[in-house]
Amino acid sequence: MGSIVLFGPPGAGKGTQATAISQTTGLPQVSTGDMLRAALAQGSELGERAKVFMESGQLVPDEVIIGLVGERLQEDDAGDGVLLDGFPRTIAQAEALQDIETVDLVISIEVPDERIVERICGRFSCADCGAVYHDTFNQTKTEEICDSCSGSEFIRRDDDNEGTVRSRLEAYHHQTAPLADWYHQRRVLFRVDGDRPIDEIRDDILATLKSL
Ligand code: ADP
Ligand code: AMP
Repeated sequence: MGSIVLFGPPGAGKGTQATAISQTTGLPQVSTGDMLRAALAQGSELGERAKVFMESGQLVPDEVIIGLVGERLQEDDAGDGVLLDGFPRTIAQAEALQDIETVDLVISIEVPDERIVERICGRFSCADCGAVYHDTFNQTKTEEICDSCSGSEFIRRDDDNEGTVRSRLEAYHHQTAPLADWYHQRRVLFRVDGDRPIDEIRDDILATLKSL
């Protein structure tokens, strides 16, 4: 089996759906956003380079991201493919990926712009395990206790504010959205309506995975 790409605008629900897909397929989740935030937290050179782009909601330059993913795909656990979340985001990234990895399926989670702002501005996640929640749409079952790991510390991303969301959406429409056609032409694109309850979306995705 090759790799799977989770595709869609920021806040579409890629990270939310990634857990079930990883569990079903056994593919490790590779989120470029998470990798960049880890680099930033460590104060590495890569993090420093990416910082200004991430803070302003622009895409980090292709060569930086392509290098990062190329290295990640060399690691032992990536031998049977990975679940890519947030990559590729430009045609150049998709072309670079094509040279090093087979993509079996691209799951495009489709959500209208007007839903994105409310999703992103209410997002928070567990500081221990990274499980993603929402103030209104996906609360923890017990207040302030993570459903997945029982941790009690939660974080909000610096770039999850209305101003940055607008720039991220603009970057998405200009640079990333054209990739849907690119993958459609290669017959690997599966579109799913992401403007529905989380469980319904997950069931549709898992049904498609079974039919692969
Ligand atoms: P992405 O990884 O695509 O940026 P996330 O998975 O982090 O998106 O989801 C963004 C926010 O929207 C989170 O707060 C999450 O809890 C919430 N969310 C995810 N899927 C849905 C859904 N189907 N309906 C409502 N809110 C959702
Ligand atoms: P995300 O966690 O996917 O929402 O990404 C957060 C930020 O990291 C984005 O707004 C970009 O600045 C940067 N980023 C993540 N993945 C990529 C990518 N594939 N290409 C360029 N920039 C990226």
